[in-house]
Amino acid sequence: MMPSFETDAAGLSSHPTWMEIDGAALRHNLDQVRRRVASGVKIIASVKANAYGHGIQPVAKVLEEAGVDMLATGSFVEACALRAAGVSTPVLLLAGALPEAMGEVLARGFIPTVYDLDGARAVSRAASETASAPTPVFVKVDCGLGRVGVALDLAAALIDDIAAMRNILVQGLYTHVSFNDSQGMAYSRERLRLFYDLLGSLKAAGVNIPITQALASSALLMGWRDDCTAVCPGHILFGLSPVIPELAELTPFRPILRAVKSRVIQVRDHSSGPDRGTGAYHKNRRQRRTAVAPCGMNDGYRAAVGTHAAQVLHRDRELRVIGVSLEHLTVEVPDDVEIAVGDELIVVAGDGPVALNTVAAWQNHRPIEAMMTFSARMPVLAV
Ligand SMILES: *Cc1c(COP(=O)(O)O)cnc(C)c1O
Repeated sequence: MMPSFETDAAGLSSHPTWMEIDGAALRHNLDQVRRRVASGVKIIASVKANAYGHGIQPVAKVLEEAGVDMLATGSFVEACALRAAGVSTPVLLLAGALPEAMGEVLARGFIPTVYDLDGARAVSRAASETASAPTPVFVKVDCGLGRVGVALDLAAALIDDIAAMRNILVQGLYTHVSFNDSQGMAYSRERLRLFYDLLGSLKAAGVNIPITQALASSALLMGWRDDCTAVCPGHILFGLSPVIPELAELTPFRPILRAVKSRVIQVRDHSSGPDRGTGAYHKNRRQRRTAVAPCGMNDGYRAAVGTHAAQVLHRDRELRVIGVSLEHLTVEVPDDVEIAVGDELIVVAGDGPVALNTVAAWQNHRPIEAMMTFSARMPVLAV
């Protein structure tokens, strides 16, 4: 899906459901990352997955203005969305494309990631057709996550082979470890040491790779440092933690999600008429008054599971959600609540009674999973 977030007041009244993100919190989080790394270390901001659901275009604009060195996403479509938004910061494509897409990738000026000979050859071939100078690529090493990358013990040979190819240049070498508990942390520390060994032996062999990178959110939260020339945080820039609370405090980082909001499109009084006492389509319920807002499953909202009871906020009052359908959510309105069409409901907030963590827990989701369901389904306003 091509994210499209440009909107205006009129667009918002025709489907009054939107997300607000806090640009100041994002700048603050970037600053917190800068404090954790030595001066001169480049920051590659991971904005993959639609900026972890927060809207890649508004997020990238804030990061570019704040002077981030590079943006990274796995999605070609998202990389195009960055350029469409006028963002000109270099874009690293984390793995995601087939070799046959390399012509398109280079034509757009994105930096591809390679991790095998086929990919490297495809870049070299495409570069011979499209570029005059050697095309920079990043090589991705899998040092233990078991996902994408060239195996540690094959990396030096691959880099050697690439060096012999025309029109292609290894500008960066990176790996990714991520952990959420102490066991994963110990494993990651050990695997990173092997990555650093690889960097050491390449250096000793006279191979000069300007950008090296290994640390992401979990490592940075633990205060780890290394001699690489870049870091690539994602989660912590958005105030999300990949790490269990017992391991590291997220406190210095702030949620950039301000709210998901929706406005009431109808208030119902069920105390008279044919649906008397039934609470509209919820035939087994007895609500006297209900209100409806256009924030249903299609907008990424999910009903609470198990014994949880979801709430939304109307002014500072919690209203119980009694129905989530494809396009609407319905809340119960107690007699003493004054509510009208057009009133704002806060469906999710950065903190308080409907904080992302809480709402996600009602759905039996992790916070990032809840963000993924909202992602790209509504306009995002940077406030
Ligand atoms: C997602 C990703 C990151 C960022 O990870 P976080 O845990 O969100 O900080 C860094 N590097 C690579 C290769 C990634 O895919």
